[in-house]
Amino acid sequence: MRLSRYFLPVLKEDPKEAQIVSHRLMLRAGMIKQQSAGIYSWLPLGLRVLNRIQQIVHEEQQRAGHIPVLMPTIQSADLWRESGRYDDYGDEMLRITDRHKRDMLYGPTNEEVITDIFRAHVNSYKDLPLTLYQIQWKFRDEIRPRFGVMRGREFLMKDGYNFDLTKEDALHAYNRHLVSYLRTYERMGLRAIPMRADGGPIGGDYTHEFLVLAETGESEVFYDSQITDLTFGDREIDYDSVEQCQAVLEEFTSRYARTDETHDEALFNQVPEERRRSARGIEVGQIFYFGTKYSEPLGATVVGPDGARTPVHMGSHGIGVSRLLGAIIEASHDDKGIVWPEGVTPFHVGIVNLKQGDNSTDSACDAIYAELQARGLDPLYDDRDDRAGAKFATMDLIGLPWRITVGPRGLAANKVELTSRRTGETEEMSPKDAIARLE
Ligand code: ATP
Ligand code: MG
Ligand code: MG
Ligand code: MG
Repeated sequence: MRLSRYFLPVLKEDPKEAQIVSHRLMLRAGMIKQQSAGIYSWLPLGLRVLNRIQQIVHEEQQRAGHIPVLMPTIQSADLWRESGRYDDYGDEMLRITDRHKRDMLYGPTNEEVITDIFRAHVNSYKDLPLTLYQIQWKFRDEIRPRFGVMRGREFLMKDGYNFDLTKEDALHAYNRHLVSYLRTYERMGLRAIPMRADGGPIGGDYTHEFLVLAETGESEVFYDSQITDLTFGDREIDYDSVEQCQAVLEEFTSRYARTDETHDEALFNQVPEERRRSARGIEVGQIFYFGTKYSEPLGATVVGPDGARTPVHMGSHGIGVSRLLGAIIEASHDDKGIVWPEGVTPFHVGIVNLKQGDNSTDSACDAIYAELQARGLDPLYDDRDDRAGAKFATMDLIGLPWRITVGPRGLAANKVELTSRRTGETEEMSPKDAIARLE
């Protein structure tokens, strides 16, 4: 992409409404624009990151054997009356009346709709196990939308639902989700810690939240510091193996780690004092096993091997896709701007032309740009007629992992500069070597 033809409305001044760094940087880098409280437009740069995050989520879900679907954002209230949640859900639910005076709602979550799909089409235990998921917009009329996309009212969530014959099978699905979430967050450059949590309005007492530690997090958490040493890494896992998934769950959940809702002072005190930590965290996902809480009232049953009908065991599993942008920036920025992890960066590399309009510099930049594109390295070329300082400031603000700086003086010796955004280190080398280094 050539910056002269792109739409990147960066802000020079810090926006006053932003209280935390990720919100400030997303506005300044021209990633989002607020349209109403907690409701945002996604501008091109923000949309690129959102899409990359979605791509990772899709890949990891499908690697674990889960099947994508897409459900509507607008749901019928009748389905929620069947489950008994229509009245219970409260003011967070945006309730709508259509022209025929029918009660509708903008879905805050989808347990009812997915169970409705299941009961219409699945009859036999032979069709199980089944896990369906989607990435779709949700609406929750949060009492205090704030911190930009971190606590929006309209937000993008991956929500998945497993259907199993027995509790044991459903717990395997739960463990499988835990493993796939560990992989998902690590690919985004994040360390998200599974912690014992509370079921809330989704229900069920078997649940973990995934938290990214950050001072600006809204959750209070308590944990054994040993847990922050754990990484999933690139180990191979067979998602069908009950033992392997169970072992990962045990490894990642055996040390004390709880949100304030389930915090137990007496248990916590059994952790050696020097390892006891209390901190703040951002909830980027949650997994639940809730048994037959929805399948019973909604009649989602299958015929078992013995010929008898039984309600299926279910769980649901959410990832805060749009919230993740905020969480990643909270975890990865400096005083100049965002520092994108490679896995989610909107462009892989920026090219800065120090002397726009100078023939040999322009053609060297064009050649580098074309070569990077040909290799699928997704460059953003700042080809505007602007000061070098301003170009550097923009590149630093939007946080691309690499910058190639091209100027007439270096080119005279066939040299460009390659700069790492994370370390700030710059090396001189030929354009060819710089391109090779980025592959
Ligand atoms: P919170 O405690 O932050 O209100 P939640 O527990 O109500 O979140 P879940 O029902 O567990 O949310 O939804 C799954 C995920 O969706 C959450 O882990 C979070 O990452 C994301 N999420 C929930 N509410 C919002 C919101 N208002 N804005 C952005 N993301 C959200
Ligand atoms: Mg909530
Ligand atoms: Mg929560
Ligand atoms: Mg939650």
